[in-house]
Amino acid sequence: MPYMVEDVLCPLCGSVGTQAFLGHDQLMGLPGEFIYRECNECAVLYQSPMPDAKAIASFYPDSYLDHDLPPVTKPFGWLRRAVLAGHYGYASLAGTVLSRFVGRLAGIGFYRDEVVFKRGGIALDVGCGNGKFVQKLSALGWQASGVEFSESAAKAGISAGLKITVGTLEEAQYPDASFDLISARHLIEHLPNPVQFMAEITRLLRPGGRLLIRTPNSNALGRRWFGANWYANDPPRHLVLFTPENLTQIAAAAGLRQSVSKTFTSPKIVLNSWDYYQANDAKPSRKSGVKRFISRAYVVLAALTGRGDEIFAVYEKS
Ligand SMILES: [Zn+2]
Repeated sequence: MPYMVEDVLCPLCGSVGTQAFLGHDQLMGLPGEFIYRECNECAVLYQSPMPDAKAIASFYPDSYLDHDLPPVTKPFGWLRRAVLAGHYGYASLAGTVLSRFVGRLAGIGFYRDEVVFKRGGIALDVGCGNGKFVQKLSALGWQASGVEFSESAAKAGISAGLKITVGTLEEAQYPDASFDLISARHLIEHLPNPVQFMAEITRLLRPGGRLLIRTPNSNALGRRWFGANWYANDPPRHLVLFTPENLTQIAAAAGLRQSVSKTFTSPKIVLNSWDYYQANDAKPSRKSGVKRFISRAYVVLAALTGRGDEIFAVYEKS
């Protein structure tokens, strides 16, 4: 038998999983083959065997990290400010009653990936990298800080004066009920134990506090189309790939209630996946016009079917 039983068990629900695909690192070119299984019960995808901390650290060569931090956050445009003020409660961003009204209406269709403001709210960005999002949250009025595993990734933000703790979330040892908002953007798919992560988040949130998550959607149309070549698989760095239901399930088990769950997509993931597919299978390259047309059609199809490449979800502690 090639595996021990614990290697094949789902990290979310403990059921047995079946091999779904074999991954290769097409982004950074690290050697090796990485097996991904799909849980027979909850359908989450996970790397099997799950790599240990030392192996995980080796998945992030220095060139993977984004070292530069733009010196000043771009000022938000008029419509975005209006939506943030009218729809998300960032009252300081739009002065007039009219712009707040326009923002409230426009918020139904525009900038649907923001989170409701809390005056005087304390925010933490987990896996904050160079601190770009900490900077954005501060500009929006949050008392924001970040925690980042990689010292070299955090350097730019720390030099720019942002409050960033170097280490893992657990190592930071924040006291109970410290935050009104915790963001985990493209983080949870890199963690070997997302259930433990959710429990820690629940401990750190204040009552009424929110968790914002962005992560690839394993139920995306793009994954159906491209399989092992789907850009957002990103082996071996992505350890667990969730459906929106998987996330909501582990959040609920930790005591968090779903308040928003939707999916987004852009032509970028399809075009990159297409490049992976062609590099792998040595298929002749199609004309770029055809590619552009299909990638746009994909964005429309993904929106119509609710199967975009990325999940945006907000969970609330009662
Ligand atoms: Zn499962």
